[in-house]
Amino acid sequence: MSPISVARRASTLQPSVTIAMANRAKAMIREGIDVLAFTLGEPDFDTPQRVKDAAIKALLAGQTKYMPTLGDPDTRKVIADKLVRENGLAATTPDHVAVTAGGKHALYVLFHCLFDQPRGGEALQEFVLQSPSWVSYGPIAELAGAKVVDVPTGPGNDFKMTPEQLRQAITPRSRAVMLNSPSNPCGTMYTEAELRALAGVIAERAKAVAPDLVIVSDEIYEKITLGGVKHFSIGSVPEVAERTITVNGLSKAFAMTGWRAGYASGQGEFGLRFMKAMSTLQGQMTTNITSFVYPAIRVALTECADDVETMRQAFVRRGEVIRERLGQIPGLRVPRPTGAFYAFPDVSAYFGKRTKGGRTLTSSLDFCEAMLDEDRLAMIPGEDFGGCGRNHVRISFACSEAHIHKGMDRFGQFLSSLK
Ligand code: PMP
Ligand code: GLU
Repeated sequence: MSPISVARRASTLQPSVTIAMANRAKAMIREGIDVLAFTLGEPDFDTPQRVKDAAIKALLAGQTKYMPTLGDPDTRKVIADKLVRENGLAATTPDHVAVTAGGKHALYVLFHCLFDQPRGGEALQEFVLQSPSWVSYGPIAELAGAKVVDVPTGPGNDFKMTPEQLRQAITPRSRAVMLNSPSNPCGTMYTEAELRALAGVIAERAKAVAPDLVIVSDEIYEKITLGGVKHFSIGSVPEVAERTITVNGLSKAFAMTGWRAGYASGQGEFGLRFMKAMSTLQGQMTTNITSFVYPAIRVALTECADDVETMRQAFVRRGEVIRERLGQIPGLRVPRPTGAFYAFPDVSAYFGKRTKGGRTLTSSLDFCEAMLDEDRLAMIPGEDFGGCGRNHVRISFACSEAHIHKGMDRFGQFLSSLK
């Protein structure tokens, strides 16, 4: 083994469990093992043909050179118009938009523009993050220098933080509050009234104790609503409009995970300041995104509403199928998802039992590892989502109904074989 070390910031960074489990399942499938995977939050649909055509046309026309760091003016305008029209983010112009290589990259750049590394004696800046939440928020924020302040939620409160919990979590050291509705992994959506109440708390606490407080609203699943709750953008609430950065991307709604296309935006003077900082950082990082992807983004956002709706309807049906199947399995508690494409059952009733291979299950991680090794069924263990996630597994239903039925048959067999 080489004695040469890598930097602590990389060697201590928590790897993404969603990516790790998905890669493990894919490697087994490549070896010819019959694994049924419910791991990645990646639509099984192909990217709409119109989107592909736009990229091909641009590529053939020679759009293959460097372009402006935060995106070409046409694309930034299409995104700004969308944010004004669909999300009510009224004070958004093209200059208030940063086009990034996916939502994850937008968050990475943004967090490095938000959190300061403490100077001698200073306390770490705080990042208010409800748990369970997506596995990458905490590690990216910590990498940027933040301390995560956990706000626990669970099935009892529909995985939503209350205004009172949020009020208590905000201190003079708070720098950002993370929101993700619809949520990965919980499938929860905040209603407009709930978001207005949280916005009220943030405005009040910012005034009283935390003037630099910023809301980061990750709305990447906004188009994947399953019925019951309408998506609402907290940045449209005037009291917090000029302290909200909205993050989004094309991966989920447009089946464009491999394209690496996302964006961030902020309104008014506040937004301009953050876009300028993101431009400087991105200029030292990736420069612009792949040049011939810009026209594809424009076509997706302006011409593909029908494709998005067709896919949404498929997710609604799949959500119903998976809930029905999970509901037939004894001992599982299955919250009803209202958005995104994840079921998040509580499997803790099975902890303490033994598998046919002789392992005792003590956690969600044991549970998922045993299920993959012994029954070739891959799901994401809930530990890394934080909080009560350790009692849950995440099942992505961005796959066909036939795959769901086969997987649920196998899930039922695995659970009934536990002693
Ligand atoms: N936010 C959430 C909540 C996600 O689930 C994902 C999934 N990858 C992302 C952001 C980032 O997606 P991407 O980088 O593909 O835009
Ligand atoms: N967000 C998706 C998921 O949670 C993709 C993987 C990732 O980026 O974490 O499965």
